[in-house]
Amino acid sequence: MRTRILLLVPVCLLLLAAQAPVQAPARFPRGAARSAATPRPDRNLRGFSLTAAHRELIWERRFDRLPQGAHIRAVMQHLSAYPHHLGSPYDYQNALWILHKFQQYGLDAHIEKFMVLFPTPKQRLVEMVAPKTYKAKLKEPSIAADPTSGQSGQLPTYNAYSGDGDVTASLVYVNYGVPADYARLAKLGINVQGKIVLARYGHSWRGIKPKLAHQHGAIGCIIYSDPRDDGYFQGDVFPKGPFRPWQGVQRGSVMEMEKYPGDPSTPGWGSTPGARHLPLNQITNLEKIPVLPISYGDALPLLRALGGPVAPPSWRGALPVTYHLGPGPARVHLIVRQHWQLVPLYDVIAKIPGRVWPGQWVIRGNHFDAWVNGAADPISGQASLLEEAKAYGQLLHQGWRPRRTIIYCAWDGEEPGLLGSTEWCETHAAALQQHAVAYLNSDTSMRGILGIGGSHSLERFANEVATALLDPHSRETLWQMQVEARARALRKTHVARPLDGHDLHIGALGSGSDYSPFLQHLGIPTLDLGFYNRQPFGQYHSIYDDFYWYTHFGDPGFRYERKLAQVFGTAVMRLADAQVLPLEYGDFADTISRYDRQLHTLARRQGNAGFSLSELDLAAARARRAAAAYDRAYRRAAGGGALFRQSSAALGRLDAGLAKTEQALLNPAGLPRRPWYRHTIYAPGYYTGYGVKTMPGIREALEQKNYAEAAFQERKIVAALNRWAARLAHLRAEVQ
Ligand SMILES: [Zn+2]
Repeated sequence: MRTRILLLVPVCLLLLAAQAPVQAPARFPRGAARSAATPRPDRNLRGFSLTAAHRELIWERRFDRLPQGAHIRAVMQHLSAYPHHLGSPYDYQNALWILHKFQQYGLDAHIEKFMVLFPTPKQRLVEMVAPKTYKAKLKEPSIAADPTSGQSGQLPTYNAYSGDGDVTASLVYVNYGVPADYARLAKLGINVQGKIVLARYGHSWRGIKPKLAHQHGAIGCIIYSDPRDDGYFQGDVFPKGPFRPWQGVQRGSVMEMEKYPGDPSTPGWGSTPGARHLPLNQITNLEKIPVLPISYGDALPLLRALGGPVAPPSWRGALPVTYHLGPGPARVHLIVRQHWQLVPLYDVIAKIPGRVWPGQWVIRGNHFDAWVNGAADPISGQASLLEEAKAYGQLLHQGWRPRRTIIYCAWDGEEPGLLGSTEWCETHAAALQQHAVAYLNSDTSMRGILGIGGSHSLERFANEVATALLDPHSRETLWQMQVEARARALRKTHVARPLDGHDLHIGALGSGSDYSPFLQHLGIPTLDLGFYNRQPFGQYHSIYDDFYWYTHFGDPGFRYERKLAQVFGTAVMRLADAQVLPLEYGDFADTISRYDRQLHTLARRQGNAGFSLSELDLAAARARRAAAAYDRAYRRAAGGGALFRQSSAALGRLDAGLAKTEQALLNPAGLPRRPWYRHTIYAPGYYTGYGVKTMPGIREALEQKNYAEAAFQERKIVAALNRWAARLAHLRAEVQ
């Protein structure tokens, strides 16, 4: 459910909806230009001796030749041939088909079944009852040119986990419905108490909109896609162009995933068949008020009927109407009723056993369920994943055997709220914390720039991977393309070109795709990768996200799809084949210092420059020293080759320690008001739903001016960083 990424920092899906705020800009490497046209694979691969790196690069080159665009295209066509939301017949058919493919490729595969709470619509109504009457269509029309757009079995337009209800009230336009918008309304003297709010998509995870509306006293919420954001204002609409047509609707979950994702009725434990499920009235992350998504075609009559003050300029969309705030005179009748049912969910899990350290698991995943046909979201990622598995099958025939075990996961039920990955992680939590060394995720991908987000201990590794592969169009490295794209985004006319040893920052992960339980609940080093362009996805979560759309606008030549398979092939193989896990800590420690500086700025801005953060400053400095000492010891031991001459058993022990450094950053008690989120450095925003909040415990407390909580959370982060530094000191002794 990833939405588009801004500025190449993956803001995955679901959560972080379009137009999320731009992350901290990249740091630009300084130094001399390097010929982009002739990338020299760096033979000093982190984690490999020179000889082993040489062998690895030979296998990687063999891998690179295997993915075929035409085959990925055929797989996409098959998997997106019919609507396949969680619990639908074709979703199950796809699970079986993926299982069969894994087995055909020579992987040891099985299905894991869960029973999860997934509401589907029973009754939906949006009707204006005054001053005129208008009944919203709530239906996306089929389009003649698009052969799958008129299929039966499409899930109607709705927001899963909405409250059920039947309400009638005056309407208020609340722009994006984020906290700043309510503050502005309050200044203008407009109150939404007892009203129905009309919010546009964007600038927040969609579940934040009804949550905030309810907190401000509203009794219903309607969310529409304004053409300014992903419709005709951006360009031609589907089928002439890629953008959202008049009756296109963005479905989506409004579960309060910032509290916890997964099956809402089994928080913290797996929804295995027979497991205990909470009754509906004990679940805390469902919306309290009815909410429905509508098209801009359906929104226009409502907006036209609003009176009251004219909306501020930045609130105005691209519909042919003067935007007013209300309240009224438009009055709206809104009904939502859902079937609240447990449905079967099928995760498909496949394995390639490791030959040296079978107990170390490199895990790769992408979901396969969609809101409707979902060619881009998620089949673009899933088709790449299967192509990777196919290529590994071929390499196994040629004699390749990974040192570590590789586990491929096709997740079901991601769209409603990361159900398949979360239930699997919760079911196997202890084993995963013991054995998993990394998790690599993808979701929607298409023509564009390689976006990378994840654990900063994998930042160096991600840079190495992006440097090893060429953009299929420009033939520059994916890394260089990223540098140039960031420069364009910052409107710089000239960028010093690489490489003087600095790494490009990768984005931190909030939520919105299946990495969340691995990283934020279990503390497993994680990367999320995919190709994005800067345009919004006008077909996002609609019936038009299908094979026709993708083959016309997503990646018609399947060259970026093929490249995605090569990116993951390289990344997974390197992680699985490395003699020592290629985790690196200098980038992580730098990032911690950067977040620390941001918090100082925040405290000053909040008018509390006296909030010293001195303990955090000290912990950040200790982390930098620990990272520098470890990396010095690593370079010394690796440079002379002594490290790689250690016994497999000794290296295995070192790896086990390396893989668990991320877990030192977990606070077992979790974040305030949301114990499921245990990572002290990365979490989705609780109050705003904006992408990621780094060092969320302190940052959110400072934002709320809750200084007692900020001080308490500072101690938690300091303790986590101290645990982390102590582990690193211990590991340093092992590499020497
Ligand atoms: Zn997705």
